[in-house]
Amino acid sequence: MPTSTETTILRGGEWLLQPTEAGAVFTPERLTDEHRMIAQTAQAFVDAEVLPKLDQLEQKDWALARELVKRGGELGLLGVDVPEAYGGVGLDKVASLVVSEKMARSASFGATFGAHANLTIVPLMLFGSEAQKQKYLPKLLSGELIGAYGLSETGSGSDALGARTKATRQADGSFVLDGEKMWITNGGFADLFVIFAKVDGDQFTALLVERSWGVKSGKEEHKMGLHGSSTTALIFQDVKVPAENVLSEVGKGHKVAFNVLNFARFKLGAMCSGGAHGAIAESAKYAATRRQFGQPIASFGAIKHKIGEMVVRTYAIESLLYRTAGLVDARIEATPHEATDGSAALAAFEEYNVEASIAKVAGSEVLDYVLDENIQIHGGNGYVRDYPAERHYRDARVNRIFEGTNEINRLLIPGMLIRRAVKGELPLIPAAKALQDELLGPPSMASTDDGVLSDERRAIEAFRKTTLLVFGLAMQTYGQKLTDEQEVLMHLADITIDLFSAESATLRAIAASEQKSPRAALHQDAARVFVNDAAMRIEASARQALGAMVDGDTLRTMLAALRRVMKVTPINTVAARRRLADATVERGGYVFA
Ligand SMILES: Cc1cc2nc3c(=O)[nH]c(=O)nc-3n(C[C@H](O)[C@H](O)[C@H](O)COP(=O)(O)OP(=O)(O)OC[C@H]3O[C@@H](n4cnc5c(N)ncnc54)[C@H](O)[C@@H]3O)c2cc1C
Repeated sequence: MPTSTETTILRGGEWLLQPTEAGAVFTPERLTDEHRMIAQTAQAFVDAEVLPKLDQLEQKDWALARELVKRGGELGLLGVDVPEAYGGVGLDKVASLVVSEKMARSASFGATFGAHANLTIVPLMLFGSEAQKQKYLPKLLSGELIGAYGLSETGSGSDALGARTKATRQADGSFVLDGEKMWITNGGFADLFVIFAKVDGDQFTALLVERSWGVKSGKEEHKMGLHGSSTTALIFQDVKVPAENVLSEVGKGHKVAFNVLNFARFKLGAMCSGGAHGAIAESAKYAATRRQFGQPIASFGAIKHKIGEMVVRTYAIESLLYRTAGLVDARIEATPHEATDGSAALAAFEEYNVEASIAKVAGSEVLDYVLDENIQIHGGNGYVRDYPAERHYRDARVNRIFEGTNEINRLLIPGMLIRRAVKGELPLIPAAKALQDELLGPPSMASTDDGVLSDERRAIEAFRKTTLLVFGLAMQTYGQKLTDEQEVLMHLADITIDLFSAESATLRAIAASEQKSPRAALHQDAARVFVNDAAMRIEASARQALGAMVDGDTLRTMLAALRRVMKVTPINTVAARRRLADATVERGGYVFA
């Protein structure tokens, strides 16, 4: 049985061009005992120590937030990504994913934890000098110091490189920092900040800045949700930063910012998947006990549809997350490096940056869907504070905004793939040309494969060809100007996300069958429903994109090509969703956990 480090190492985005064997994909069913142990530790910590104190955290008791971070440190949860040499526990990225999933059970504390562990400890680990790591990592890992990440400003959110905070170089090599950051998580009480500023006017640079050097916090923002996490502005007036506190190099701040975001987006996807697990359990329990018209609402088809669909979408996002973590781990493992050297992890996350953006977009949108349906299943009780459903709903909304908005990530997905194609790193252009040639010829014989999920595997081949068809036409039609065609890029992103999600779900279900999982039939239901619905979404997006790019005879030819490629027969999704919903209600929670 493959572990996370034995998977076949597909390069980033290569799934766009070629199928993968189910046995080569890492899935939640392949977690090792070590993964399960850290998952249990994280879950027990959140259940016993964080969730009972949520109201206190929402009263902005930051002393408590600090205590909880410290406690997370004692349990080893802060140091999953840090080698033992620096006081961490040095586990793989699957473990890191599992911890993020469990932390999501409290979204507010999850944000505090994420800003500290993912946005402060990780950049220090990946880009810090030996002296910086020795100085700050142990205290961050024990929770003695709390970290925060200051990139955004009033005038520069998505356009992060447009920051106006400036670091003026002094004769002794130190810097004087002036400016203001906005919406900084942990801003009210953090001690150490990763701050991005312009040195000498235009050199975007990351600096490690201690609060005691004169950093001031603005007032707590009045937010829609995440009331138990601190969000403030940070104000710098003549804050002196020593020369040795440049993180990486002067002028290389963009490398720090973008690479940290690759990592953080993947973990945000994991938090979303964990949040969805919790909400599915709430819905399942409520639907089993709430009676209307003399029966539990779980017996109504409309409610079964909702629970079934919540499970299907969560299954897909979870499948792509674990698959990506397996790829990242395999790449790190295959790269010769010292245990203390973060460069292999850095390169791996750069390699899988498209997958990280997909995890962020798909994860945050699946979670919002699940949380919205959770409220609906709770009826009026979903809208009042006696139940947690409304809190989850408010807390989750920001996931589509921070760590790069979903629009920015949707632009990045096709943008990064095309950049690789143009550089010759991903043979997307020859593949699109080969497809055009194939479509000019006579139809090939349909595959006679009748193995597990063979229709779904054929459907995924159709999705792959459709994606190539639209990518090919977009590159041909607009060339370098494609970046100006955001609506087409959004459709391309949606198609690509559905392809990766559908394939990941199908491969996981096949693997469950090969492993003779007792839940193999439910795995297949989840994958089949996802693929069925993805076919409709992909076709609709492809038609919209084609219609925007060409017209007349060319459009008719392209639509004929699309019809030839996308031959997916609908399945009985009602029966499959009912089975998934019934199993979920019977279990009182997410059926694949
Ligand atoms: C609770 C919370 C916590 C946060 N924590 C942190 C933190 O710890 N550290 C930190 O640095 N930041 C943090 N942020 C800031 C967050 O990262 C930004 O809000 C986010 O990046 C979006 O920037 P913006 O708000 O300026 O929106 P804008 O960039 O102004 O975007 C507004 C809208 O325009 C769209 N848009 C912008 N540019 C484009 C484009 N080129 N093409 C198409 N559409 C575009 C966006 O997608 C969005 O829909 C936090 C925000 C919140 C709300």
